[in-house]
Amino acid sequence: MLRIMFLGTSASVPTKTRNTPCLYFEHDYDVRFLMDVGECCQKSLITYGLKFMRINHIFISHWHADHFAGLIGLIQTMGLEGRDKPLHIYGPRRSKEFMDKLLRLGYYIRNYPIEVHELKHGDVIEFERFVIKAFRTFHRIPSLGYVFEEKPVLKANMEKAAKFGLKTGPLIGKLKRGESVTFRGQVINPEDIIEKVRGLKVVYTGDTAYDDELVKSIEDADLLIAEATFEDEDKEPYVYHMTVSEAVALAKNSYSKKLIVTHISRRYEGEGKDKYEKRLKEGFKNSELAYDGMEVILKR
Ligand SMILES: [Zn+2]
Ligand SMILES: [Zn+2]
Repeated sequence: MLRIMFLGTSASVPTKTRNTPCLYFEHDYDVRFLMDVGECCQKSLITYGLKFMRINHIFISHWHADHFAGLIGLIQTMGLEGRDKPLHIYGPRRSKEFMDKLLRLGYYIRNYPIEVHELKHGDVIEFERFVIKAFRTFHRIPSLGYVFEEKPVLKANMEKAAKFGLKTGPLIGKLKRGESVTFRGQVINPEDIIEKVRGLKVVYTGDTAYDDELVKSIEDADLLIAEATFEDEDKEPYVYHMTVSEAVALAKNSYSKKLIVTHISRRYEGEGKDKYEKRLKEGFKNSELAYDGMEVILKR
């Protein structure tokens, strides 16, 4: 089970209803991590009752303030609450330099280590049941998008099992462990019943312009969380952001199953928002416009 909470969905500056970018991930009620930490992230974690002391990993897409300004407060609070476990922060090139500066600001005592990891396109961070892959995005400064991908799991095909007269039980467990079993005088091998099932794939683009190269990293995502800062007619040249139609094109070209757009310019409130949303829905049926407090639950 993967739970995602949208804690900030505004581009560049907050609005009355939207904070700057922050995504909370919780996998199998166990591993919790953040992608980007906008300035009100800490308040939102508390508002939605999310246990921020159990966040051990933070992925920063790039070092624009709307994506990291909440880090310093969160780091200080974790210290005040008596954290002693290390906190891992991942980001693109120059992350060590920026974190070093950030950690020297102000007076406070921190009794836990912070480990900063600089990533590049193709780097993979291994967790027990999933991986996070970094991929190159197109945002004028060093920037990365992130792919969350569950490792494949072994599942018994119960239709095939029924042909052997087998039901769930210890024999299925043995087959999953790769052992052959004998049942009613016949030998059953793991490959007769056990199948490898692909896990969930969720992609967060961070800030980026549209580029065909993005498609390869996103391919077949169960959920694509893409930035769509502008409506098509409002995009100025040389702005390294996507429009609604570009986010839609990215979802279509990558065969993503669902699209949620975020990082929305403050100009799309009220009527502007309705028009934006209409274009999104017309472009990609299984799509949603993110809002602060939006919760998404995904299951294999
Ligand atoms: Zn941004
Ligand atoms: Zn940016």
